[in-house]
Amino acid sequence: MAGSDAIVVGSGPNGLAAAVILARAGLSVEMREAASDFGGGLRSRALFDRDVVHDVCSAVHPMAAAGRFFREFDLPARGVELCQPEISYGHPLDGGRAGLAYRSLGQTCEALGPDGARYARLMRPLIEHSQGVVDALFSDFRRIPPELTALPALPLRILLEGTTLARHVFRRDEAPAMLAGIAGHSIGRLPSLPAGGIIMLLGHLAHTTGWPLPQGGSRRIAEALVEDFLAHGGVLHTGSPVDDIRELAGAKAVLLDVGPRGFLDLAGEWMPPGYLRALRSYRYGPAAAKVDFLVSEPIPWANHELRRAGTVHVCGDKAAVYASENAAIQGKVPEQPYILLAEPLVTDPGRGLPHKRPVWAYCHVPNGSPVDPADRIRRQIERFAPGFSDTVLDVRSTTAPEFAKYNANYVGGDIAAGAVNLRQLLARPVPRWNPYRTPLSGVYLCSAATPPGPGVHGMCGYYAAETVLRREFGIRELPSLAPDEKRLQ
Ligand SMILES: Cc1cc2nc3c(=O)[nH]c(=O)nc-3n(C[C@H](O)[C@H](O)[C@H](O)COP(=O)(O)OP(=O)(O)OC[C@H]3O[C@@H](n4cnc5c(N)ncnc54)[C@H](O)[C@@H]3O)c2cc1C
Repeated sequence: MAGSDAIVVGSGPNGLAAAVILARAGLSVEMREAASDFGGGLRSRALFDRDVVHDVCSAVHPMAAAGRFFREFDLPARGVELCQPEISYGHPLDGGRAGLAYRSLGQTCEALGPDGARYARLMRPLIEHSQGVVDALFSDFRRIPPELTALPALPLRILLEGTTLARHVFRRDEAPAMLAGIAGHSIGRLPSLPAGGIIMLLGHLAHTTGWPLPQGGSRRIAEALVEDFLAHGGVLHTGSPVDDIRELAGAKAVLLDVGPRGFLDLAGEWMPPGYLRALRSYRYGPAAAKVDFLVSEPIPWANHELRRAGTVHVCGDKAAVYASENAAIQGKVPEQPYILLAEPLVTDPGRGLPHKRPVWAYCHVPNGSPVDPADRIRRQIERFAPGFSDTVLDVRSTTAPEFAKYNANYVGGDIAAGAVNLRQLLARPVPRWNPYRTPLSGVYLCSAATPPGPGVHGMCGYYAAETVLRREFGIRELPSLAPDEKRLQ
């Protein structure tokens, strides 16, 4: 291993994105992954039945469909079909009502009745400038993205939706519940400016590049990345944890797809006091607690339209979502949790059998909470889909401590690799002009604990690789990420 140009530690989407870029730039690159399998948050497995594929972590990929790294990498051209549900996400309410984000903005507005025109006014400017909005929100937060100056609508909307100012905009419950359901993806206090940004990002993507699920499971994305990495000379070692940064001496550059806690364990004793203090003051947020169900029927949602939604946010109205998310922040396990749920067979029939179907569902609980969420989650689904419990053939829970054990980056079960509040979004993981650089010579961070933060978009790895190429190898132009056949055309 000594002698490689670069070593990447960790094979999550950010480590893999960085490794692909460095290998394509002509460097010799090795990757070390602690787990027996590559992929980090991009693994899929047969949990109960060999014909039924469950996503272990991420399942729904609006960010991979829209972000710059994957736009250039071009998953569909590499045979990874991004299956698009007709309804990107839905949000059931009591009494059989639901908010429904169709791919079509017009259809969505029609379903929202008297609130349709307001919803259109909120989303249309973002849809018209989608690529700029995406690039601004997936920036490294150090350069003012040109789109922000061209599109004043974005900061204004983030301010409105990220504070209490938006309270009286809509007349009925559906639209506010839909936006609150997206805000819940921020895994933090609600409302908040980071959540406002996520509402704008994921909200408008529902009507542009969609909220797809990869055919065959999230693992397909990791496989495409690994295939490209190996094709460009990369070497991958799985079952190969790095315990001490000194193991990597010899490589010109080291990129760590690890969070601050992992970095402290690897190299804390070598860090200057100021950086050490800043890293130690980094905070982790609420955790995920997940349930995988094997069910015999499609979920019997009271609102039949929800049977066409790839993702469903289950909780109730906006106030209920906020109460659940704020409880987790305050260290309380919500009795009626906000649930992110995906039923892959809605859009990818090959993921199971007609009477053996996977359901992916998780909620947020206090960091480190050992609570088994299975019963709470089942009851919440049952509330909006009477009869659901009778369809359940098997159940497997993953508690917050089990997530922490599964992946060292999920400290206390925090799957966002650190609390997503304004301070930690802008100065992630520490206040530093270039957050990917560390005070250790040649050592860089590239995980979701750097900007632009959590999610499967690869952009943390992209910016880290860009820094490494420029600083360590004098390469200023990033290599093409397009599939090789496409480049030759
Ligand atoms: C239940 C759940 C649901 C999610 N749902 C979605 C979703 O639907 N859509 C979405 O976009 N995102 C989702 N996410 C978030 C997404 O998976 C993460 O934000 C993303 O995977 C972060 O990528 P990463 O490369 O930074 O780190 P990770 O994917 O966490 O990968 C880090 C890798 O580094 C390895 N590693 C750590 N330390 C060491 C070491 N010392 N030596 C060697 N290897 C090491 C780990 O084993 C791991 O494989 C979800 C996550 C979870 C857990």
